[in-house]
Amino acid sequence: MECWECDKPAKAACAFCGRFVCKEHAGKRPNILAMYLGAKETPKLIPVADAIWCGICDPQDPVPMPELF
Ligand SMILES: [Zn+2]
Ligand SMILES: [Zn+2]
Repeated sequence: MECWECDKPAKAACAFCGRFVCKEHAGKRPNILAMYLGAKETPKLIPVADAIWCGICDPQDPVPMPELF
């Protein structure tokens, strides 16, 4: 796999869009890994402060999708 930007060997994949990037072009952005219902039905989040980000895509704030439930 090669970097989306410069065609060097990629080191990681963007956590948001899946593009591959080399170390030079990889950025970091907070991400939420998982969300689940904990004890007493308390919703819990597992955040990652420095998830790999390609620097190209633009992750938006979460959009409520109540119609899915
Ligand atoms: Zn690169
Ligand atoms: Zn991306």
